[in-house]
Amino acid sequence: MEGNAGTGQEEPAACMFCGSGEERIPLVPLRYQGGQAFICPRCLPRLIHPERAGGTAPHGQPG
Ligand SMILES: [Zn+2]
Repeated sequence: MEGNAGTGQEEPAACMFCGSGEERIPLVPLRYQGGQAFICPRCLPRLIHPERAGGTAPHGQPG
């Protein structure tokens, strides 16, 4: 297709956490830091519950 107003420096869609490409796993587009990012269903829990996925609780958290 023609009509692309760019120099052609597009990165392929990949999960922002594990880096899996859309050719291997479905990716969900989302907005992040003013830009577009992608995340795979496997990493969605990490996005929703970052403290749970980490294992170690952040400092200053009682209990
Ligand atoms: Zn992922």
